[in-house]
Amino acid sequence: MTEHRMVINGRGVTFTQGQTILEAAEANGISIPTLCHLKGTTPTGACRICVVEVERARTLLASCATPAAPGMVVQTESPKVVHARRTILELLLSSGNHNCAISGASKGNWTEFQQHVQAGDGADELCPVWGDCRLQELAYQYQVNADRYIHTETEYPMEMKNPLIVRDFSRCIRCGRCVQACNEVQVNRAISFGYRGDASKIVAAGDRALIDSDCVFCGECVQACPVGALVEKKSRYTWRPWKAEKIRTTCPYCGVGCQQWLHVQDGKIVKVTGVEDAEPNKGRLCVKGRFGYDFIYSEDRLKTPLIREESGEFREASWDEALDMVADKFREIIAESGPDALAGVSCARSINEDSYQMQKLFRAVFKTNNIDHCART
Ligand code: SF4
Ligand code: SF4
Ligand code: SF4
Repeated sequence: MTEHRMVINGRGVTFTQGQTILEAAEANGISIPTLCHLKGTTPTGACRICVVEVERARTLLASCATPAAPGMVVQTESPKVVHARRTILELLLSSGNHNCAISGASKGNWTEFQQHVQAGDGADELCPVWGDCRLQELAYQYQVNADRYIHTETEYPMEMKNPLIVRDFSRCIRCGRCVQACNEVQVNRAISFGYRGDASKIVAAGDRALIDSDCVFCGECVQACPVGALVEKKSRYTWRPWKAEKIRTTCPYCGVGCQQWLHVQDGKIVKVTGVEDAEPNKGRLCVKGRFGYDFIYSEDRLKTPLIREESGEFREASWDEALDMVADKFREIIAESGPDALAGVSCARSINEDSYQMQKLFRAVFKTNNIDHCART
């Protein structure tokens, strides 16, 4: 691929045809802040945080949506750029219920504001994503708070109806990442932008709650949301990033082998996210992988094999006893009715290697082709 040259922050760098300024900068180790940009999806330039100054351009340009060009001279942190970013951040913070430590900390009505937000949230803590929020991170980086502009309220109430996801429209910055995650990454097409201007809102068809829509609760939108507008219901206000450790693992639900981060606090999983840039899922997860971890702590989990007695009752048994019994029954059936009287169904949660061994056992040892794999449920 042909390499071209451009200048970023006074440094000569190379880029390839088709790269945006943002991609060219990233490829050369130069960081440009983003909010709406979602890797691998169509750039929208919606938030304008990634603006840069380009020599001879009349206005600041969104680096995520502007193609790099040979000979281009770009400044990513010039005074003009920083001023624009600070203004955007201040406007975002002054709209809605941003009650973390960064927002309005010097306001005279700080306590009143907190009480107002907490009443709506049903919790007496600071924002549930405090410490895990891109807007808050950038507000610290650019040293802004929400004091400069009049605070505006959203008219949309929080959506608590869904079993797994809480939608808090008061903290939505309308970046559109959730829409892209749903429509372009997972291709579920459950949500889009609705209404106009100040009234704009992310909606499911007919402006219904997610539970009443085409949403499949994959949670991709929650993972993509850079603020506290979409939050996992189960872990809301129960975890804080500085208290949790991240452990990488493979999803136990099916043979695809999606890579996950388990967020573990006090020895318990509090949420699960996909590992970005890791095969095979590249950060995506389905509803089971993302939300289906409660069974680990279920009192009803089987911890030892159970054998059904003649009476129909189950009794606990050792693995040796249970496996010997299965082997004896198999031998009996084959002796009486031949190998085709046996059939095996491999578990969907098994890894591919185990499923391979299962079919080998049936085909090569028992001499029957009666082997299948149950559907991924
Ligand atoms: S969403 Fe982010 S900026 Fe808003 S209150 Fe929560 S942590 Fe603060
Ligand atoms: S949970 Fe999945 S399907 Fe539902 S809105 Fe979010 S991304 Fe779309
Ligand atoms: S819900 Fe989150 S991801 Fe979606 S537009 Fe609002 S802030 Fe952006």
